Amino acid sequence: MVHDEYYKLLAPEYKYTRAFCTEDEIRMAETIRKFVNKEIMPVRRDLEGGWHRDEELAVRTQHALYARLVELGVTKSSLPTKYGGLGLSPVVRQMVNEELSRGDIGLGTLVGKIHWIVSFMLAAQRDDLLTEFAPRIVGDESWTACVAITEPAGGANLEDPAQEFRTVRTIVKEDGGDYVINGHKIWPGPAGPLERFQSPKMQGHLGYWTVCTSDPAKGPEGVALIHIPPDAEGMTFSKPYEKMGFCWSDDNVDIYFDNVRVPKRYRIDTEPGQGAHIVKGYVIGLGRLAGAARLTGLSQAALEIVLNAAKHREIVGLPQRERSLFATYLAEMFRSIDLARQYYLSVTWQVMNPDIYGPPWSPEMLAKFSAARSFAGDCAKFVCNVAMEMMGSYGYAYEFNLEKYMRDYKIVQMWLGGAHRDRLDIAQGLYGPFKWGGFEEWEKKQGLGG
Ligand SMILES: Cc1cc2nc3c(=O)[nH]c(=O)nc-3n(C[C@H](O)[C@H](O)[C@H](O)COP(=O)(O)OP(=O)(O)OC[C@H]3O[C@@H](n4cnc5c(N)ncnc54)[C@H](O)[C@@H]3O)c2cc1C
Repeated sequence: MVHDEYYKLLAPEYKYTRAFCTEDEIRMAETIRKFVNKEIMPVRRDLEGGWHRDEELAVRTQHALYARLVELGVTKSSLPTKYGGLGLSPVVRQMVNEELSRGDIGLGTLVGKIHWIVSFMLAAQRDDLLTEFAPRIVGDESWTACVAITEPAGGANLEDPAQEFRTVRTIVKEDGGDYVINGHKIWPGPAGPLERFQSPKMQGHLGYWTVCTSDPAKGPEGVALIHIPPDAEGMTFSKPYEKMGFCWSDDNVDIYFDNVRVPKRYRIDTEPGQGAHIVKGYVIGLGRLAGAARLTGLSQAALEIVLNAAKHREIVGLPQRERSLFATYLAEMFRSIDLARQYYLSVTWQVMNPDIYGPPWSPEMLAKFSAARSFAGDCAKFVCNVAMEMMGSYGYAYEFNLEKYMRDYKIVQMWLGGAHRDRLDIAQGLYGPFKWGGFEEWEKKQGLGG
């Protein structure tokens, strides 16, 4: 199957609107697109170890491609030039997400982790920490990173503004010059023993940016975002979860923190209330926006597969894509993808103009991040589903790749609180805030002061 057929409406020079980005930025997206076509597309199935799920093949392929992306400069692209990064705009961050996810959304997510952690340290103006991490982010070596949020009490609860972080049970306490952390996170990735991230093509793990609280009863005031080095004493990991997609591109595990001690400078937030703002705006909000860009790239990949298949499949002497029923479906897929793209670009531009639109932690911006992710998630669901129906059994077959995209989109729609949380956050931005019925009784039962 041909993957690089040129469709003007799907090409970076045409699909990225110049109201939101520059010619140079579009050229960068074009470079990534070419890299994806040449180096990721031919091996994208190896990223999950091929048909037989060969873990060694998956990890080797992932580390090799990640190292190539480090060489290309994508991981350092959002770090300001004063730290040796490329200092590119948030729009580039999202274009990188879209273009890479067209090849493999797991690899796009892995690169995105570095942009994510950089955004937290920038938001808190932590010049000292940015200076500390920069050499590993800008050098030729490849490093990965993880953000640990979800807990057994429910990811969607922690990400629910109405519950004000009162379900967080990863507790941080001051002890002399250190912070000591106890608790349990579920699902963060990529995570695990350090050796997992060391190979001829990968040097290591930058550590865990972990959402904690000093006291659940304090709600937003108690929230702290703590960096925990990857080899910190007292931190243990479960075996990775076995999943439908994202097999080894995101090693998801349980992390147990048992009196984990870190120096005080590793608390990212420095002012009262700033921890909650960073978690709401940069961890959850910008995380959802990045998900929207990734889902858009994935949807475009699915559309390209079905466009090519429908060119070759004939129905009574005409290509399937020239039969009006199917042409209509293809048009609807394009319409949905382009709307998802223009919307996430527009919201990214709004993030760059907080004087007009408000900070990323405002209910209005959270509504827009959630609208971008939920719309792009519905788009991916529609495109993958209809593309598979149009391709029939070939769509269902492993070798045509569509089934991989169908497996992969689902979790990007569900993580960071999921599709329902997105809708509730849109409503809260529109006419909220509102609390769940029974909230006060629940708080009392938990022994929490409101
Ligand atoms: C591949 C993969 C990668 C992941 N990466 C990370 C990571 O890097 N870091 C990390 O911390 N976690 C990560 N997660 C976890 C993920 O973010 C959570 O699983 C997700 O937020 C949903 O939380 P939950 O599974 O606890 O579902 P629950 O909270 O149990 O919710 C189940 C469903 O019920 C609904 N629901 C429940 N409560 C509410 C509510 N209050 N408001 C609205 N809807 C609600 C939602 O629809 C939700 O989908 C990852 C998971 C996977 C599979």
